[in-house]
Amino acid sequence: MRLIFLGPPGAGKGTQASLLLQRYGTVSLASGDILREALRRGDPIGRQAHQYMENGSLVPDEVITELILQRLETLGKEQSFVLDGFPRTEAQARALDVWLERRGHKRIDRVVDFDISEEKIVRRLAGRRICGGCGASYHTENLPPHREGFCNRCGGELRMREDDLPETIRKRLAVYHRQTEPLLKFYRNQGKLRVVPGDLEIESQYEALLQLLKAEQLV
Ligand code: AMP
Repeated sequence: MRLIFLGPPGAGKGTQASLLLQRYGTVSLASGDILREALRRGDPIGRQAHQYMENGSLVPDEVITELILQRLETLGKEQSFVLDGFPRTEAQARALDVWLERRGHKRIDRVVDFDISEEKIVRRLAGRRICGGCGASYHTENLPPHREGFCNRCGGELRMREDDLPETIRKRLAVYHRQTEPLLKFYRNQGKLRVVPGDLEIESQYEALLQLLKAEQLV
């Protein structure tokens, strides 16, 4: 299965992608994680992207598209994957379609929109924490670490993402409405768009996602 997870920040895309990875081995390519990893390593592309990320705007299409397509290139043609956070503009979506077709890869099967209210987003993002060491994601209420403030996986210190501050969240939501929401129509026109409620608890959201994927005979 080849999926795209759409939906605003805080809708649960990353959490659901990691649950699919655990159960079905579906590789998750999360554009934000890939950029943060490049930044931690001090790669030029990470440094270039940082100025956009810290103020909540989008990294230029060419930069992120090249980065994601390079990663996709490393996957086998039959490998199941979830794209989490890419594409975020129509230009990125078109570039992805062209690339998949040229490489003889199968097309994207379904695009899942995680639909959630803004009020809930702001609450969710305020509790989100990431590990400074390995980038793993937690939530103070919904997905707390075993030891408060520290990563289960590597013991690194947990902190808020710099772009989860309230004023940056507002900017990211405005960017989402302006640049990413038009993709809903783009994929609806391709007959691929499906909706999963984004404001459910993690387990119920996962159930809803699995039901959908089963109904589509993708799992
Ligand atoms: P995320 O972790 O998905 O919320 O992404 C964090 C930040 O990385 C975004 O606010 C953007 O600055 C940048 N970013 C991630 N994915 C993309 C994308 N597909 N296009 C442009 N910028 C992106």
